Amino acid sequence: MLIVMKSDATDSQVEAVLRVIEQLGFRGHPMPGATRTAIGVTGNQGAVDPSHFENLAGVAEAIRVSKPYKLITLDLRPEKTVVRVGGDATIGGDELAIIAGPCAIESRAQAFAVAEAVRRSGARFFRGGAYKPRTSPYAFQGLGEEGLRILADVRDAYGLKIVTEALDEAGVDLVEKYGDMIQIGARNMQNFSLLRRAGKARLPVLLKRGLSATLDEWLLAAEYVMAEGNYQIVLCERGIRTFTDHTRNTMDLAVIPAVRRISHLPVIVDPSHGTGKNFMVTPLARAGVAVGADGLIIEVHDQPEHAL
Ligand code: PEP
Ligand code: MN
Repeated sequence: MLIVMKSDATDSQVEAVLRVIEQLGFRGHPMPGATRTAIGVTGNQGAVDPSHFENLAGVAEAIRVSKPYKLITLDLRPEKTVVRVGGDATIGGDELAIIAGPCAIESRAQAFAVAEAVRRSGARFFRGGAYKPRTSPYAFQGLGEEGLRILADVRDAYGLKIVTEALDEAGVDLVEKYGDMIQIGARNMQNFSLLRRAGKARLPVLLKRGLSATLDEWLLAAEYVMAEGNYQIVLCERGIRTFTDHTRNTMDLAVIPAVRRISHLPVIVDPSHGTGKNFMVTPLARAGVAVGADGLIIEVHDQPEHAL
């Protein structure tokens, strides 16, 4: 159910509608927009009777939602969400957001050498994993909390906003302590307990698309986060698995306008994981911007031949 308030509805009318939603045992998600506030209703198993709401003061209409998602849609919020990171940086606004940094934080010296270059480039966000979701258990797993401390020091030294991955629910606690944005990796896109925990977090979420996730599966993963009350989500296309072997993954750039048609959430592209080839990063970054991405996430290393 989606309740659209009249354009002149008052705050107290919105609150009265939220109270009725709660009394029915559901949760209301108010989304103030440029011209009106809409309220998404979640927590109901079957259909909700619109007559509960239709005659309340300030309500324009109560609409049954037939799509699988309720909160990520343009029906709820016709304007794009602008995600605020670390107070004064945004993703989804007028400026292209550039997130850059190493795959993993390997040492203080490496992190600072890369951060120096990232800062000089004009990017506002620094990425780097302290906890790495590796295909092999024998690959470098990250420095753990020490890596997060280094990231926090990078923020203090360069004013860059810190984007870093949480592998599990305990990891979200740690990213909340040290970082500015919680990355949920491709392999964890359908880790529902992690999504729920991120939905209760006080930081915005960067949600990568799973290696074989359809558009609907990806959007429903975002819906999990939003249903818990965290509306600050950025989607990230990072390449999907196909039969091609000239790249590590296949960047699905068509998904950017496809997301745009359904959702108000910002979406960025990751040409580093999307191609796995240094020489393809620049052309695919440009292509991502050309098809409407709100930003880029780029892996940067000062000595790529020695990267862990
Ligand atoms: C990464 O950003 O380094 C990473 C592990 O990404 P993905 O989850 O997209 O593989
Ligand atoms: Mn990586």
